[in-house]
This record gives sequence, structure tokens and C-alpha cells, in this order.
Amino acid sequence: MKILVINAGSSSLKYQLFNMTNGEVLAKGLCERIGIDGAITHKRPGKENFEKEVALPTHDEALSLVLELLVSAEYGVVASIDEIGAVGHRIAHGGEKYGCSSLIDDEAVAYLETIIPINPLHGPPAIKGIKACRRLMKNIPQVGVFDTSFYSQIEDFRTIYPLPYELYSENKIRRYGFHGTSHRYVSAKAAEMLNKEPSELKIITCHLGNGSSITAVDKGIAIDTSMGFTPQEGIPMGTRSGSIDPSVIPYIMKAKNLSADEVEDLINRKSGLLGVSGISSDSRYVEEAALKGDYRAQLAVKMLANSIKKYIGSYIAEMNGIDALVFTAGIGENSDMLRKMVCSELDFFGIKIDEDKNKSIPRGSAADISDECARVKTLVIPTDEEYMIALDTLNLCKEQ
Ligand code: ADP
Repeated sequence: MKILVINAGSSSLKYQLFNMTNGEVLAKGLCERIGIDGAITHKRPGKENFEKEVALPTHDEALSLVLELLVSAEYGVVASIDEIGAVGHRIAHGGEKYGCSSLIDDEAVAYLETIIPINPLHGPPAIKGIKACRRLMKNIPQVGVFDTSFYSQIEDFRTIYPLPYELYSENKIRRYGFHGTSHRYVSAKAAEMLNKEPSELKIITCHLGNGSSITAVDKGIAIDTSMGFTPQEGIPMGTRSGSIDPSVIPYIMKAKNLSADEVEDLINRKSGLLGVSGISSDSRYVEEAALKGDYRAQLAVKMLANSIKKYIGSYIAEMNGIDALVFTAGIGENSDMLRKMVCSELDFFGIKIDEDKNKSIPRGSAADISDECARVKTLVIPTDEEYMIALDTLNLCKEQ
């Protein structure tokens, strides 16, 4: 079966078409600046890219163009859209309803609309993407794969904040967790690499990208994660502060005369690596400056490594052990410097990496970087959320 994976953002639409008989990516691309001016990049492995600036007033026009390209004589990869067996949608938030991936029908769309208040940034574009697909691909099943569903089994004492209980019961303010599809994918891969069943393992997965989160996976089930009500909680990120003393917010609002929107912008887009280093949100530039001796860049990198270390320690305590530590996403897969900083002096817990192995991972490959005598395996595993979405979509369609 061929499966189209859609990831709709407020002004973008990413897509990948998979042939699920062999997992091959037939085509992928990105529609950008939807509702502004519009552009598309369409790629097929080993072939010339198609790039064009083109008006894309809404997600409907963007998807129409994608479907046109997928079947076009020059840039296409399928003879007809009917060859696509199903569409899998990346949906950041599944609220309290979706504990696993699910077919999207009218009722599902209606539910996703009701949770927009707790998912104001990602909810509306995801719904637009779903609606466009349902309109333009009428007879093709649509599946929702939710970033939050991997966390549906986290116990209430770990998800509910110590605030007045009504804020949970009435306003649904609780920790939901994000990046679940990536953590689910790499934790399953880790079990495969170790030739063990997930049920035999305690794993901590560190997804370190522009947005970053850490998850504790005990016997295949996520029991805790660093992101919370929004993707803001947890470790410092490219431009997000991660967890801070909540009282800092009202204090800076008063001291700097900032509105709620302005302070939200400050903690979401001006903080983290960018805010501390003053150099960039891109860890490559921050690491480069740190190596040259820049104090604030060093501070940012140390802050990040220490925060990751603290989560690792607390998750080892929550799981009463650890068998494998996994690094993934842009920084996790590529920064040997950060992996080394995080793993240093964790030998008390049985974590020790081999410095040569840590430095010589071929780009895009999975690797075991543990020291020979380490009790815990430290693994680097490239994430593939799109493939995981395609796989869930395939499995759900097979069940129908
Ligand atoms: P997103 O969360 O947007 O999916 P990615 O997983 O692509 O992000 O990660 C982006 C981050 O990965 C950026 O901070 C980038 O600097 C970092 N990164 C990519 N390559 C390297 C590298 N070689 N060394 C350090 N950081 C890297």
C-alpha cells in the first residue's frame, strides 16, 4: 500500500509518500508561505527537485498542487491518486480522547475543534490539513497520529499540576507531553537494536532538536516526559526557555510592562540557546562559539547538558533503573559534544560512552556508543516520525 503522510503547519504543509511494501520514500516535499505568497519544493530520491514560487492562498490549493505533482508526467511517482491507500496526519494534540492513532471521521474533526483552546497553535492548521484531504481525496481513509498519545498511560500524579484541581477538571490544564511519535519510534528501535522485547527494558529517550523533550519508557510504556501542558516545559530549547520558576513570568510582566502575548513570545521565541548565548538558536553555532571560549555560549551549552542530566537522573529514579539511553533528532544525532557532556560522570548509574565511537557515527546511522564495560547501553538512533505515522496508518487500515 502507498501512504501519504501530511504534516500541516499554520503556513506550511509537509508531505511524504511511502511505498509500504519496502518502506521506500517515493516523494516528499514542503509547501511554504501558505496564505502569504506561496512556494513548493517537491523531491524524489535520485531525481531533480521541483521548486516553484506559486500562489497558495489556503491549504486546499497547497494540497491540490501536491496531488497534481504526485501524478504529473514529469514529476509524478504514481499513475493515479487512487494508488494512495490512506493518508496519515501528524496531529500534535489528541487531548484526553486519543490514546492511540485513530481513523479521522466527522466526530474526530469535531473533537479536535473542541480542544483548540488547549492547542491554539497547532490545532487549527492540522484541522485545515485534514479537511483539505477529506475534500480532495474523498474515498481515501484518513488517519490521525497524535504526538500526545504515547503519553496517555502516564499516571495522574505525574500529569496533573499542583494547582487548584478545578484547573484540571474544568479547564483540562495538565501535562500532555509532545514528540511522542518520535520517542515511540526510537524506543522501539532501541529494543530492536538490543535484540530485546520492549517489555524487558527501561529506556530514556532524549529527542534534542529545535524543540526538545526527554521521555522515560518502562516496558514499552511512556511513564513520564519532560514537556507538559505545552511544548514549553522541560529542558532549554533553541528559542524556548523550558521550565523556569513560574513567578518569573508575572515579575517580568510587571517589571518590563509586558503583555501576556509579549511574555509568551519572550519565553517561546527569544529564550533558550538563543536567549542565553545571544548568538543563535542553532546549536551548531552556539557550540562553535563555546569552543572558541565565548562565555555566554558556554553557559548555554552547559545549561542544556545539565538540564538533560537532571532529567536522566530523575527518570532513573522514577523507573528504578535504566537499560538504555537514546539520543535522537538534530542535536541528539549530530552533536558528539553534547552527548559527551551529558554522559560524563554518569558512571554511578552504569552510563559510560566510548569517546571514539561517539565521534565517528556516519551521518544518519544508528550506533551503539557505549563503552565496553558500561552496564547501560547508550544509543544514537535517527528518528523517523513520518515513517512511524505511515506505519500506524497502514496498521489501522489493515484492521478495517
Ligand atoms: P526540529 O525540532 O525542527 O525537527 P531538528 O531535529 O532538525 O529540529 O534539530 C535541529 C537542531 O539540530 C538545530 O539546533 C541544529 O543546530 C542541530 N544540529 C544539526 N546538526 C548538528 C550538528 N552537526 N551539531 C550540532 N547540532 C546540530
